Amino acid sequence: MTKQENAAAELKSKVYDKVNSCIQCGYCLPACPTYKSMETESASPRGRINLVKMAAEGKIDITEDLKKPIDLCLGCRACEIACPVNVPYGSILEDAKEMIKKKEDESKKKPYMKDWLMNSFFTNSKMLQVSSNLLYLYQETGLQKISRKTKLPEKILGNIGKMEKTLPTMPSPKYRIKKGQMYKAKNPETKMTVALFLGCINDSLLYKVNYYTLELLRLAGCDVYIPKNQGCCGALHAHQGYMDTAKQLASDNLNAFEEHDVQYIVTNAGGCGAILKEYNHFLKDGTGSNSKSKVDEFTSKIKDISEVLYELDTLKFEKNINKVVTYQPSCHLKNVQKVDAIPEKLIKSISGITYVELPDKDSCCASGGVYNVINYDESMKILSGKFQGVNHIQPDLIVTSNPGCLLQMSHGVNEFSHDKQAKSIHLVELLAEACRIEI
Ligand code: SF4
Ligand code: SF4
Repeated sequence: MTKQENAAAELKSKVYDKVNSCIQCGYCLPACPTYKSMETESASPRGRINLVKMAAEGKIDITEDLKKPIDLCLGCRACEIACPVNVPYGSILEDAKEMIKKKEDESKKKPYMKDWLMNSFFTNSKMLQVSSNLLYLYQETGLQKISRKTKLPEKILGNIGKMEKTLPTMPSPKYRIKKGQMYKAKNPETKMTVALFLGCINDSLLYKVNYYTLELLRLAGCDVYIPKNQGCCGALHAHQGYMDTAKQLASDNLNAFEEHDVQYIVTNAGGCGAILKEYNHFLKDGTGSNSKSKVDEFTSKIKDISEVLYELDTLKFEKNINKVVTYQPSCHLKNVQKVDAIPEKLIKSISGITYVELPDKDSCCASGGVYNVINYDESMKILSGKFQGVNHIQPDLIVTSNPGCLLQMSHGVNEFSHDKQAKSIHLVELLAEACRIEI
């Protein structure tokens, strides 16, 4: 067999049953943001499924013909919700990405920089911490003001440099949560013990989001344990085809969260929570020493912060927030974790808020992990459409529930909002303000 035939056979063994479950009805097409934006069949879920099937049958080349349409998928999984026969699109996408990555590794086009970011940077919490400390210094020393005045990031990095303006203001690193500690509840009546998943982006760039999450849980009556050896969830890796690294990270997290018996493992990032809940999909071949029952116990405990606070119902939102607020859902929170109405219910329960629904809110903001960096133009086309809705309702605050969405909506305010007045924040920032939790 040639190398191409081998690759096709391997892809076929993974996906053939899954792609053949698609009945070609096309119900998923109107739900797909890339199909709406690009208007071609190969940018639709059905088109991509057919291309994966053709690649598995050896009719098209995996890198030459399949890579581009697959890379242009956001992985938002809105198509899964629309599908009447439950085609497992997310799993098909992961298999296709893994095979594309394998083929790239064999070729001269091996993406060394991306390999380093995926295998060495995002997996190394010390390196992430140093980077975030440098960013804090960049802001504190006034360097950021100079670079913005001179538009240096844009001059060096072009469009990607524009994203510098979306960097969040970093509080003192003293607010970064310490691992290996138990934080006791602040409510006199402790309701439960939970563990908090810190993630990689939220533990470095957005540690204020983790801080607010921790304080809200404590105020709501939780003892909160922070497992020492936890790391990145592996979502970025799995979505880019780095399955071996993703499996290793999953296995490490499973072991890290075994340290303490807790009721829930709480996440505050829609994307992280989604993959944590799906660890059973890619640890089914027994990576490390993980039994099925161990994986199932871990996945069954994963809860988004909004679910836990809503279930406890112990927080008192004492402060009036007299603002117009809207909500942009995280696709992975809604489509994979199936947490849909709860964040909006929490927002609406704060007095003073005028809640206005964002038009077409269920459509992806086109952040897509690193999609907006790799496919900037396509991402901005979708984001500018989303901001027609934002400009129509003119909110003061756009609430999100995932770090990628938060930064993307912030970028949208800078690039596409008419008055540039709206502020993109995480749900926990709003809830913390209503509870008078301050940094
Ligand atoms: S995951 Fe999202 S972008 Fe990709 S095919 Fe499905 S709906 Fe379209
Ligand atoms: S809705 Fe499901 S079955 Fe129909 S074309 Fe899309 S993926 Fe295939």
